[in-house]
Parts: sequence; structure tokens; C-alpha cells
Amino acid sequence: MMSDDCLFCKIIKGEIPANIVDQSKNALAFRDINPKSPVHVLIIPKEHIASCRDLSKENIHYLSEMAFLAQDVSLKEKIAQDGYRWVINTGINGGQTVDHIHLHLIGGRNMTWPPG
Ligand code: AMP
Ligand code: ZN
Repeated sequence: MMSDDCLFCKIIKGEIPANIVDQSKNALAFRDINPKSPVHVLIIPKEHIASCRDLSKENIHYLSEMAFLAQDVSLKEKIAQDGYRWVINTGINGGQTVDHIHLHLIGGRNMTWPPG
């Protein structure tokens, strides 16, 4: 199910343009509009799942598909060898601003820890 008022569902439906990097049957990868590193790709399920809090036995397979697509993109973007970071912000304290679950694949520079 898609959500009519969700930005990322609109990208999936092609109603809003995005710089698409790759996709699989149930996941889509596109460049973040405001990149925080040389490589910053968002990986989303082609199904409206609002956040990590909404994962369930029924939809958890989307997370696996997102992970595999992120792995493929890391190879294509040539950041796999040096390493990268996966981030899924969740809710207010997590800093989530778009309510459609998304995995940030960020790489191409050294990351600091802990995150802000
Ligand atoms: P978060 O803050 O974790 O919810 O991440 C949302 C991300 O979506 C941010 O990094 C934004 O830069 C990115 N974003 C917002 N609108 C768009 C868009 N139209 N196309 C690509 N990325 C977007
Ligand atoms: Zn959505």
C-alpha cells in the first residue's frame, strides 16, 4: 500500500523526480537531495512503511531487500572497500524527517563516532 501524502511514495510512483541509482523488485535507491557525504544514497521499500517502529513479521522482508540493495549500491559507488555507514533515523529523537522508512548509505569520507 502506498500513501497519497508521502514524499517517498510519490518518488516511487514517479510523481516527483529523483536521481535513481538502482532498484530491485521491492526496493529503490536514489541520491539524497542534500548529501552529507560524497556518496549519500537513500534506500527505501516500495511499500509505505512509516518507520522502524512499523516493521513486523509480515513486512520485515523489505528490510532484507533494502540491505541487499544497499550492498549492491556500495559496490557500484566504489565505497565498499573503504567502508561506509548505514543509518536509519527513527522518530523525533532519531531525527527522522520523512515518515517512510529509509536507510541512508553514506560513504566516501571518514565518519566520526558517536553521531550527533
Ligand atoms: P531523515 O532526516 O533521516 O528522515 O532523512 C530524510 C532525508 O531525505 C534527508 O537527508 C533529506 O535530505 C532527504 N530528502 C528530502 N526530500 C528529498 C527528495 N525530494 N529527494 C531526495 N532526498 C530527499
Ligand atoms: Zn510512503
